[in-house]
Amino acid sequence: MFKDLERLVDVQKIDIKLLEINNLKGDLPQVVENLQNHINTLTKELDNERKREKEILLEIKNLEAKIADDKIRLNRYQDQLYLVTSNKEYDALTSEIDTLKQEIDSAEYNILKLTDESDQLKVSIKGKSLTLEEKIQERDKKQSVLDKTDITTKDAQAALMEQRNSIVDLIPIRYMREYERIAKAKNGIAIVPILQIFEEKVDKKGNVEYIPMQVSCGGCSKIVPPQKIVEIRNGDRINRCEFCGRILYWDVQSSEIRSNYEEELF
Ligand SMILES: [Zn+2]
Repeated sequence: MFKDLERLVDVQKIDIKLLEINNLKGDLPQVVENLQNHINTLTKELDNERKREKEILLEIKNLEAKIADDKIRLNRYQDQLYLVTSNKEYDALTSEIDTLKQEIDSAEYNILKLTDESDQLKVSIKGKSLTLEEKIQERDKKQSVLDKTDITTKDAQAALMEQRNSIVDLIPIRYMREYERIAKAKNGIAIVPILQIFEEKVDKKGNVEYIPMQVSCGGCSKIVPPQKIVEIRNGDRINRCEFCGRILYWDVQSSEIRSNYEEELF
């Protein structure tokens, strides 16, 4: 196999180990991120609701002050009613009184509405605060599990990365780019061994012979054209699977699969 292909295979082996380390963490990083997003949303909503609660208190206070003022004016106008001398003055005054009464009614109605809103906010704030507390505890728990996994895997990960970088340095950039592009599209697996099954055949004299059968891609299991097999076994150039696009190579340990292997032992 030519050197660059060999090195790409080595990079793939390291990347598989790195993938396995990442799999140890499972979906924890995602779970922690989701919890954090939920916490952020709840915190923002709580902030807004608490702000609105304060606004309502102020609005009610202003309305109460306005009602108090209006009532004082109303009493004064009502007292003046006894002192008026003309119809015109009387009409003007009663009209003022009616307007004030309407304004007081409307202010009282607004206070009721605001009190309702405030009550609903209190319930919502209480519920959200409890949920927020739960989510924070849950996040801390998951985060500490994740931190522990990070600590145990950090050294292994760093050693693998160092090893990887030293190999990558030796590989021409165009090959590395191709590798990264395929790996990105194929869940991190860019190079796969081809798999050839050899079927056992016993002749009349009891001689065992292994007949090479079809060859398939170790990534997508599709058939590799027979004319390509020699080329892939030689490994003189980059060969790719026509179906999944992964780079193919012949792996001395795993490419040759002997069926009835156990029987051969007897
Ligand atoms: Zn394939």
